[in-house]
Amino acid sequence: MYLEVNEIVKKYNSDSTEFLALDHVSCKVEKGEICVILGPSGSGKSTLLNLLGGIDIADSGTIKVGGREVTALNKKKLVDYRRSDVGFVFQFYNLIPDLNVKENIYAVAEISSTSVNVDKLMQELGIAELAKRYPRELSGGQQQRVAIARAIVKEPKLLLCDELTGALDTKSSKMVLKVVENVNREHGTTTVIITHNEDIAKMADRVIRLKDGRIISDHKNETKISAEELEL
Ligand code: ADP
Repeated sequence: MYLEVNEIVKKYNSDSTEFLALDHVSCKVEKGEICVILGPSGSGKSTLLNLLGGIDIADSGTIKVGGREVTALNKKKLVDYRRSDVGFVFQFYNLIPDLNVKENIYAVAEISSTSVNVDKLMQELGIAELAKRYPRELSGGQQQRVAIARAIVKEPKLLLCDELTGALDTKSSKMVLKVVENVNREHGTTTVIITHNEDIAKMADRVIRLKDGRIISDHKNETKISAEELEL
């Protein structure tokens, strides 16, 4: 198993009462799978994703990625983990406004020991012709494809996507999901997508449902369809 989450608990305090954002969550994802985590707002999806990405720290439980226990890493090692092993894609792109598309991707490539050819990657993601444009000159869907390029240029072990189509129209959403599907297929990148959009789950290998900080279902999707076929 590639990603192993075991009995994770994350607590928050509100009005001096303790509340479990994640209540003994356990799940597994195989190498190369696309896993979609579904759940209503407040169910704990972002909390879980942030723990997987080493952005936040659990109160108890363990998370292993590729056999390495992320929950046992000290602060410095956690920074290395985030930098080299995890690619994040957020709802609102997070591009650097003063850099053009190619520079945005290079900015990440330079701080990681990547062997990925940026020009080739831009071709693959359908953004080569946008290389000289600045983020403000791009549509949401185009910006998100650049954000995906930034996330995968460092060849991460895990690609973590937080509502990546949340701000996009149907056509752009499909294009972005096709890019994710293609990256998964070509690079074998284990991918976790959190969303409240049920339709996106149809392109997943594994679908996990969260409610009130607990997993209420976890199954392999035997009827996986391509992103092209999604009815978003
Ligand atoms: P989702 O991503 O499914 O919308 P979240 O993981 O963001 O859910 O949140 C799960 C629960 O934890 C929610 O009730 C939210 O209000 C709470 N929560 C998240 N972050 C914090 C925080 N920093 N402090 C207190 N409560 C938080």
